[in-house]
Amino acid sequence: MVFHNKDISKSSFLVTGGAGFIGSHITEYLLKNGAGKVRVLDNLSTGLQYNIELFVGYPNFEFIEGDIRNAAICRQACESMDYVNHQAALGSVPRSIIDPAATNDVNVGGFVNMITAAKDAGAKAFVYASSSSVYGDEPNLPKTEARTGNLLSPYAVSKMADELYAAVFAMQYNLKVAGLRYFNVFGPRQDPNGPYAAVIPLFVSGIMNGSAVHINGDGEQTRDFTYVDNAVQANIRALLADNDNAYGHVYNIAVGENFSVNSLYNSIREILGSKHAPTYREPRSGDIRDSLADISKAQELLGYTPAYRFQDGLKKTVEYFQQIMK
Ligand code: NAD
Repeated sequence: MVFHNKDISKSSFLVTGGAGFIGSHITEYLLKNGAGKVRVLDNLSTGLQYNIELFVGYPNFEFIEGDIRNAAICRQACESMDYVNHQAALGSVPRSIIDPAATNDVNVGGFVNMITAAKDAGAKAFVYASSSSVYGDEPNLPKTEARTGNLLSPYAVSKMADELYAAVFAMQYNLKVAGLRYFNVFGPRQDPNGPYAAVIPLFVSGIMNGSAVHINGDGEQTRDFTYVDNAVQANIRALLADNDNAYGHVYNIAVGENFSVNSLYNSIREILGSKHAPTYREPRSGDIRDSLADISKAQELLGYTPAYRFQDGLKKTVEYFQQIMK
């Protein structure tokens, strides 16, 4: 699906974190849909060289292996780029609880380096990944952008700090910024390995391998699971928005429907035709109970219309894992 109607054949795009899960899908979209030049900046800390290999055949693709904690690298990466899409960060709430300083260095220090470099390079827009974790303990559903609660993790603090910096850069320097608060994004290429793997790849690979699958708490916690193509759409629409009023904001990026972790587990089992039983364990610290997004702001200002509902995205994701694990 194509989400833009501008001619981008003479435009250049920097995607930070383009070797990672969401960033690689944004990079792929741009390369397949006529972007003049696409450059990725990534230090391959959680991203994969394998994802970069997918793009090396495109003559207009360039990869800089480098760290956003280095301001000079960020400046080099932004040089002659029209649009900056900032995905690079250390994800995971538990990781941030174990090592808050590392999360802060990359997600806040690296963010300030990137937004400064984008501003200094005269970028036409700076679109960045925020997170639904900024809602913290705010109990009301659905979540609306203006109403946040007490933050529950260093990761949430880092994303809120990014939003505050972006608002100040918009005000002080007239930089066109848009922050996208993703709600549990999932899809092909999400890494099932490592201690901080996300729930859907963990469940799919565990059920397929017949290994232990853990559900934190009673499994009745709910999430607004968002297929990765929806997140790509939001990024493209935000980068290329015609409407200047679209900038200077943060947006919920989700579907606007929530499902419990138990129903997620059962849906995956059904698609795989498995009877594999999960093991329940203690709830995870820093996790919120329920999550559901009001997406009307992104619909109105960005023209965002999620094309994939949860079940459609889940089928595609399970098919992907079936293929790569054959
Ligand atoms: P990911 O780990 O797959 O991608 C992050 C990428 O950033 C990786 O390729 C990694 O190597 C790179 N990176 C990390 N530190 C870096 C550094 N210091 N310098 C350069 N590159 C660095 O994660 P993802 O799920 O694709 O997440 C992308 C963005 O979306 C992140 O900002 C994340 O916080 C945010 N987010 C993701 C979700 C989700 O559900 N996946 C939800 C909310 C927010």
